[in-house]
Amino acid sequence: MSINAFNPTPRTLMGPGPSDVHPQVLQALSKPTIGHLDPQFVAMMDEVKALIQYAFQTENPFTIAVSAPGSAGMETCFVNLVEPGDKVIVCRNGVFGERMRQNVVRVGGEAILVEDSWGAPVSVDKVAAALAAHPDAKFLAFVHAETSTGACSDAKALCALAQQHDVLSIVDAVTSLGGVELRVDEWGIDAIYSGSQKCLSCVPGLSPVSFSAKAVAKLEARQTPVPSWFLDQTLVMGYWAGDGKRSYHHTAPVNSLYALHESLRLLQNEGLENAWARHRAMHEQLKAGLTELGLEFVVEEQYRLPQLNTVYIPQGIDDAKVRTDLLNNFNLEIGAGLGDLAGKAWRIGLMGYAARQENVLLCLAALKQAIK
Ligand SMILES: *Cc1c(COP(=O)(O)O)cnc(C)c1O
Repeated sequence: MSINAFNPTPRTLMGPGPSDVHPQVLQALSKPTIGHLDPQFVAMMDEVKALIQYAFQTENPFTIAVSAPGSAGMETCFVNLVEPGDKVIVCRNGVFGERMRQNVVRVGGEAILVEDSWGAPVSVDKVAAALAAHPDAKFLAFVHAETSTGACSDAKALCALAQQHDVLSIVDAVTSLGGVELRVDEWGIDAIYSGSQKCLSCVPGLSPVSFSAKAVAKLEARQTPVPSWFLDQTLVMGYWAGDGKRSYHHTAPVNSLYALHESLRLLQNEGLENAWARHRAMHEQLKAGLTELGLEFVVEEQYRLPQLNTVYIPQGIDDAKVRTDLLNNFNLEIGAGLGDLAGKAWRIGLMGYAARQENVLLCLAALKQAIK
């Protein structure tokens, strides 16, 4: 049997991720593979670290890219920081908050749930009440940008509460990084993880992570070993530590890191504030067009994520047929609803390189045709 080379038809990716990869990032990916302990590569890794620090707005020395997707960044935070018996206040207002809860349970922590409905942000008042009711809690965990619903929570206020109660914050920034305001040091975030394939315009498979000094101290004071060998950051720290101390832990995904380097360089060249403003401006254009088509947003205006637009599917419209039409006739991918919103909503992403005017116009024209 002869198998042909794989040549996918290019698509415009306007779902919940992966999103459009910048052409320069794809070019970076195809550069020659070199050894991951090669001095050239080590120097590039130092730049990657500095660029992640910029994207997160942090000076945390412990700032790295985990060699695996966003879910592994999530797991990195929980397996390293939460010890058996630790109480964690977990906010659940969609799919990813529930995954945080599962992570807490799997490492033997005790999850105290703060629940909000799908499409609503995490309630700051409920979190304040939960922190007051559980003075022995060690962590507050929440999702900044809930990709399953399109709701943005007030990470600044939530982390301020965590600091007042002397608990460590664990923040999911997979969809927020690069798309909306996020300031790790100023907001006092202790552990944060993201993903390469959402608003960073990069290929999937890497997860930027950063720990504050307090989080590193909690890790170093553990009574029990980290239950995952691969994600144990006490072992990985040696790999990312500079000054010729780098030693083998696992083979770094060399070319993917070239891609991340290029995508973060592009973000720095654009400027974080400008990137946030671009996502907002594209969202405003998309919103105007969607409203003209009679589509209604799931999330209340002030809590909407510009990079993830969730709209109700109009009565009498066949969800799967519309999405298939968009893919087959326009090479355009939008996202289906997840969980409580399955079959009821579409999720239209404007993430990273996908957040540009030609995409907005294509999406509006294609949707108009498909729902006619
Ligand atoms: C996509 C996403 C994840 C998981 O990232 P993967 O790269 O798919 O593993 C986690 N949290 C949120 C909020 C996400 O949007």
